[in-house]
Amino acid sequence: MPLQQSQTLILKSFKLGESDKIVVFFTRKFGKLRGVARGARLLKNPFGGGLEPFTYVNLIFFEKRPQELVQIDSCDIIRSYYTFQREIVTASLLAYLADLVDGFSQERDPNENLFRLLLAGLKGVESQIKPLIIARYFEIWLLKLNGLFPSLRSCSRCGRRFARNASVSVLPGGGFLCPTCSHRLPQKGESLSPRAIRTISSILRKNLLDFKNGKEMVDSEKEIGLLTWRLILFHLGKEPPSLVFFRQLFRQE
Ligand SMILES: [Zn+2]
Repeated sequence: MPLQQSQTLILKSFKLGESDKIVVFFTRKFGKLRGVARGARLLKNPFGGGLEPFTYVNLIFFEKRPQELVQIDSCDIIRSYYTFQREIVTASLLAYLADLVDGFSQERDPNENLFRLLLAGLKGVESQIKPLIIARYFEIWLLKLNGLFPSLRSCSRCGRRFARNASVSVLPGGGFLCPTCSHRLPQKGESLSPRAIRTISSILRKNLLDFKNGKEMVDSEKEIGLLTWRLILFHLGKEPPSLVFFRQLFRQE
């Protein structure tokens, strides 16, 4: 593979040996990749702060052999969001968003919309939108972009359109059911209120910055959080540690 270049958001990094780093990053052109950055942990490293989590860079890298870690050559910082790491709530939110993207995306699977969702999340933090609202918006869209968010219009079993202003039943692995199909279940499932359904619909229609005043989500944030938590656990098979930590920060509220 010749030298490649792409706009990139750094997701996370791990120490490698004495002086190197393994970096997980999401590129606009190629999707998620993992790469080795030689000398990245040296005091005078060639990358500056460009490989810190959630730095927006132009990254240049190359691949020695297919399916192996790419080699990171250099980077130019477009925008650094590293200062967000100084505040524990913001830092844990970003760690969680990085884990979500890492968990739900395959390597070398370009996804422009997901790249833009990450940028939107960062702009949301910059605009001081509440972390819980950013998390809920991000989760809904991440599931949607992966084809894992069930239809809010019609029953997952029988296809009948949902009545307006009615709650729907939630299947553990996703899927919303009409009352008839839900009565046929051996156990009564959780339900999603009309208010939460309206909020999710507006999440899917609007920009994150439209939620700046937080009013729209104030009554349904917890309910939506429970739904997305269940869906994420179901699809990832486990709760990311960053989500456990993020949820603990808000347990008292
Ligand atoms: Zn049905």
